[in-house]
Amino acid sequence: MGHKSWLGLILLLFTTLSTGGIALADGETSPARDPKQPVDDAYTAKIRKYTTEPYFSSPLVDYLPASKSVPTPAVVLGDVAGAPGILPYAEDVYKYMRLLENATPRVKVVSIGTTEEGREMIAVAVSSEANLKNLEQNHQRLAKLADPRTIHLDDAEADKLVAESVPVYYITGTIHSPETGAPTALMELAYRLAVDESPYVREIRDGVITLITPVVEVDGRDRMVDLYKWHLAHPKDFYPPLIYWGKYVAHDNNRDAMAMTLKLTQNVLNTYLGWNAQVLHDLHESVPYLYDNTVGDGPYNAWVDPILVDEWQMIGARNVADLTRFGMPGVFAHGDFDTWSPGYLMFLAAMHNGISRLYETFGNAGADTRERTLQPDEYARTWYRPNPPFPKTLWSQRNNNNYEETGLLTSLHFFNENKRLFLKNFYLKGKRSIQKPSAEGPSAYILPANDPRASVQADLLRIMFKQHVEISRATGSFQVSLPIKKEKKSGKSPDTEEKPKPAAPTTRDFPAGSYVIRMDQPYSRVADALLDYQYWSPEDPQTTPYDDTAWTFGELFGVQVTRVTDPKVLSVPMERVTELRPFGGVQGEGSIFAINNHAEPALASLRYRLKDASIDAAEEPFQSGDNKFSRGTFLIHGVGRSDLDAATKSLGLHAVALPTAPNVKTHSVRAPRIAYVHTWISTQSEGWWRLALDNLQIPYDYMSTQAIAKIPDLNAKYDVILFPPVSGNASANAIVQGTPTTWGNPLPWTNTPETPNLVGKNDSTSDMRPGLGWDGVAKLQTFVRNGGVLLTATDTSQFAVAIGLASGVTFSNSEKMKIVGSVVGTRLVDAASPIAYGYEEKVAAYCDDGTIFSVTSILGARRRHLGPEMKSRPTGRGTKDDPDFVVGRPASEIPDEPEKELWEAPQPTDDQSFNNPRVIPSANRARVILRYADSKDLLISGLVENGNEIAQHPAVLDVPSGSGHVVLFSINPVYRGETENTYSLVLNTLLNFDSLNVGRKDTGQK
Ligand SMILES: [Zn+2]
Repeated sequence: MGHKSWLGLILLLFTTLSTGGIALADGETSPARDPKQPVDDAYTAKIRKYTTEPYFSSPLVDYLPASKSVPTPAVVLGDVAGAPGILPYAEDVYKYMRLLENATPRVKVVSIGTTEEGREMIAVAVSSEANLKNLEQNHQRLAKLADPRTIHLDDAEADKLVAESVPVYYITGTIHSPETGAPTALMELAYRLAVDESPYVREIRDGVITLITPVVEVDGRDRMVDLYKWHLAHPKDFYPPLIYWGKYVAHDNNRDAMAMTLKLTQNVLNTYLGWNAQVLHDLHESVPYLYDNTVGDGPYNAWVDPILVDEWQMIGARNVADLTRFGMPGVFAHGDFDTWSPGYLMFLAAMHNGISRLYETFGNAGADTRERTLQPDEYARTWYRPNPPFPKTLWSQRNNNNYEETGLLTSLHFFNENKRLFLKNFYLKGKRSIQKPSAEGPSAYILPANDPRASVQADLLRIMFKQHVEISRATGSFQVSLPIKKEKKSGKSPDTEEKPKPAAPTTRDFPAGSYVIRMDQPYSRVADALLDYQYWSPEDPQTTPYDDTAWTFGELFGVQVTRVTDPKVLSVPMERVTELRPFGGVQGEGSIFAINNHAEPALASLRYRLKDASIDAAEEPFQSGDNKFSRGTFLIHGVGRSDLDAATKSLGLHAVALPTAPNVKTHSVRAPRIAYVHTWISTQSEGWWRLALDNLQIPYDYMSTQAIAKIPDLNAKYDVILFPPVSGNASANAIVQGTPTTWGNPLPWTNTPETPNLVGKNDSTSDMRPGLGWDGVAKLQTFVRNGGVLLTATDTSQFAVAIGLASGVTFSNSEKMKIVGSVVGTRLVDAASPIAYGYEEKVAAYCDDGTIFSVTSILGARRRHLGPEMKSRPTGRGTKDDPDFVVGRPASEIPDEPEKELWEAPQPTDDQSFNNPRVIPSANRARVILRYADSKDLLISGLVENGNEIAQHPAVLDVPSGSGHVVLFSINPVYRGETENTYSLVLNTLLNFDSLNVGRKDTGQK
């Protein structure tokens, strides 16, 4: 080759490389279209038309390659992806993906399960024909990398597999239904990946399997599209907010990656692990214009592998760099999202040795093109956002799709360029998970076979199965040594120092059948993260935790979980358990059956299932033969042994047949008729309660606050009204008034021709705006006065106090307290109350800045906080502990002030009681069932700062009101499928609705 031709080749190369106007590292392909491939001119013209400024696009997406055989998204959409006015239903998205599958061997569509309402979820694989043909062989290789035990942790073998494997990059869209852009972006992305012949895209296609679930929250998507269609039909009206997303929860569907309660979480994890994917990249839309919040801010989750942290930084930095070089403004990777909680959908990857990623792009909550005005903190130039978004700009869904697709294409390309590194990392993270016992530890977690709450333990183990964690069962009894907890050195002065406690026993015995969750398995990370404790320092530079700071599952489920570091536990004889053996049933001989009460939620299911049986609750502990039974024990008769055996086996409850009825006071346990009330403000928090009741098969009538006023006689229809939390401290005023009706238009939530999917299996109304109303308030008051039970929590408890239903209960706002989704200690105050049946003295509970309740004995009085300084003596004669004197007279006797604890109502003095009709008779006073622990014992897991403000205050109260009761919760007892330990506080209230005064010490007293 002569000099001239060399020069020509160099010039040619230069021209090709400079097409995208980007300087690249050696050997990297330019992000530019293939000039030889024809462009779909009509489609391309529309892309450009709907993009509001050229810099809101990139050389990767400002054209669409033409294909003679493969249909573009326009075939289904009637316009291009991201066109104004167009939002496809999930069904239309699937239809398009299946057209692609039929048109090209580069696309494969699989069904990955259904939603709670029965809608299909899919995954779409896009890759080269060869890759899709060899899926199975590739899968075998990836499976070995995913479980390094299969290759004996042999790095050389891993390197061979890494060199031969095609990685899988999994993208998920629209888990958050009002974030509407992803489905069309992903339709077009699938087309580009299948059709585009540019070297840049071809490399992705040949090198990576891109897996796409275009709609994660399918039920919510269809509702959202309905609403958008309603909006198009009524362009001048306000359109209803999306009050229901999925059947149960709204925004929290992206907080389910721990308890895995929702189908969408289970389906995505099964797909992610089923394909042995390396990345899970979840698309959201709430921040302008593209925030790769994978990198986010600290604190980072303590259980993720540092390798993953490096991967986040690497991919994130390159991603920002690529888009910035395209000239796209507002792309950044740091921000106010901390990476502590593993509850997000994307975190399924982080907890299973993959790479979690999350985009926030900028969505218009629909497909309108709108002028958008940002908040100053959104457009401020910062160190991590040197090219911020504009304060004001015309924004279109197409812009959003451009950002999503450009971000994904550059990510896929970078991932492919470095896939050997990422595949090796994938293997290394798996290997390091297996090596956990000998590295950071622990060796295992043990759930003992003799845990009295067997059915709750089973529920916790089922979550581990859903997380694909391996569980074993010891075939014999065994012993492990436990580390001695070091006593903290006290800084107190010598005279107040406590005597050193004897060292705790250093071994613990476990019976045969105990469950062992070994940490030498590929998914040890997720088990460790869920079962361990969390500590968030009040001094952490991050002062606004993004979500919960704690989730310790053993505590929140109230089951025994022992963290074992002793490596000998791994050689205990054990067998793998792939599903839980049925347990429970009836033992012993006799015609009366007893089920000990350990506050297992399954007891409530049993009550409803055995409709015709007679069930009584023992009001005191008793013994029968060798068996000891606690308060609240179910005594069952009027049911055949085989029926009871079947029912208890299916629920995991142990019943004991007794020869004779025990000599103990009882009352009957009845299945109440429940009215379950929600607002039209938010259904976010109540959804978790609804889900829990449905799982327990407890029936209820679901109704909105609007329905209350229309029911002529609530007491004739219902025994209990359940009013779960609304969300975010809804005020009493908001609950009563709803949304203003003095302006605007009605906001219907009902099926119409434009909104065929809106209602689903939930509630409907012709106008969402009105709240409970004053008529509704009066109805609730009458219901309680006439003997009904109203159960409330957090904000609805504040509401109950505000409308005067809980005399003698006040609440105050915290001043400096910070309890952000933490696990806190509470203490049983009144074990004789049926609400407390089955609980021990210490109860761990979920608390998020709980309401600070106080009880009084004088109506309208506020509990004074008598600090220790009030008890100190005044200045005078003598030493600190001596009595003072008054010169010239004998000392007067100081009346004994009754010592009252912070959770108790102070006894009124004679003077306060004199002619005072506001003094509440003791039988009418609030009964505190649980209180928060003392300040020093409050924190179990998470963040508690200035906890003294709520320490010792009531956590659960039973307030007599007229002939009925109002039960108030400061904690949220039913939350995200994570808090089974406190479910029975609610369920006990239900089952004992007509016997709540049982065990009251002061009944009858005046
Ligand atoms: Zn979101």
